[in-house]
Amino acid sequence: PFDVLVVGGGPAGASAAIYAARKGIRTGIVAERFGGQVMDTLGIENFISVKQTEGPKLAASLEEHVKEYAVDVMNLQRAKRLEKKDLIEIELENGAVLKSKTVILSTGARWRNVGVPGEAEFKNKGVAYCPHCDGPLFTGKHVAVIGGGNSGIEAAIDLAGIVKHVTVIEFAPELKADSVLQDRLYSLPNVTVFKNAQTKEITGTDKVNGITYIDRETGAEHHIELQGVFVQIGLVPNTDWLDGTIERTRMGEIVVDKHGATTIPGVFAAGDCTDSAYKQIIISMGSGATAALGAFDYLIRN
Ligand code: FAD
Repeated sequence: PFDVLVVGGGPAGASAAIYAARKGIRTGIVAERFGGQVMDTLGIENFISVKQTEGPKLAASLEEHVKEYAVDVMNLQRAKRLEKKDLIEIELENGAVLKSKTVILSTGARWRNVGVPGEAEFKNKGVAYCPHCDGPLFTGKHVAVIGGGNSGIEAAIDLAGIVKHVTVIEFAPELKADSVLQDRLYSLPNVTVFKNAQTKEITGTDKVNGITYIDRETGAEHHIELQGVFVQIGLVPNTDWLDGTIERTRMGEIVVDKHGATTIPGVFAAGDCTDSAYKQIIISMGSGATAALGAFDYLIRN
């Protein structure tokens, strides 16, 4: 059996695997797609000490770094079941069952899509999901934020300091964000809010040039010319397969303590699949390291 089996090969998983392997213990990593969300990212400018890089390049470096160590890398394999017996068992979609003394879950998350025409087509060509990452690309431009929950309104406030104008589009008749955020939003001069508005299409040629929405009260269709659309309707953790095992939040995020431990002894978690406050590469790597050290601590005590 493994001493540490990491499930997920994004920044959190890669970091966990390296930290575990450096303790000289038997380490494996299973990943559906090595690199994770980083593979879908164009420019990265906030991975501290690297001024600028590209997602696939960073993903290749992650894999290269992991392979410097005696880590058993199982790429293109999806885990479908976790069970704690004497050891912890991870069953893969291909039927294989891996056994380990400890497991680190780092299966990440995905942005919830609005699912309108133009969204997929213009991804990275004006359609963005991460204001901390891509906000500065829209300096001086007009952008829309889809979603009036906390993340949408935080994004709109953040972007209003960088871009020329922000239009918030909320489907429901009211914004769902905390009232302090709404107050802050409405105090800004360069923000417009449309409630009861259903996004119909993101338009463009080679990149985004506008958004079409339907006023749900009147049924009228409106088009706004702009250069960017931030979709902020939630992050979905890749944790469905853990149903009925460890404790998760209402949103499906794995609940961890400050050692990265979950509610099953020996099972740890890190990165975007957890209830960490913020979801970023550097934060995921930090929590991956924490979970690996937590797992090592657990091994020497049990
Ligand atoms: P992920 O990167 O999501 O990796 C999850 C891993 O788990 C993958 O290998 C996946 O294949 C695997 N997996 C999932 N389910 C299973 C399963 N059942 N079995 C086996 N493997 C599984 N952050 C920044 O700091 N800077 C940026 O500029 C930036 N830009 C971004 C741009 C985009 C378009 C996106 C989508 C995200 C961006 N982020 C950015 C956020 C950043 O990518 C994430 O915070 C980070 O990748 C999270 O790392 P993670 O390892 O927790 O999860």
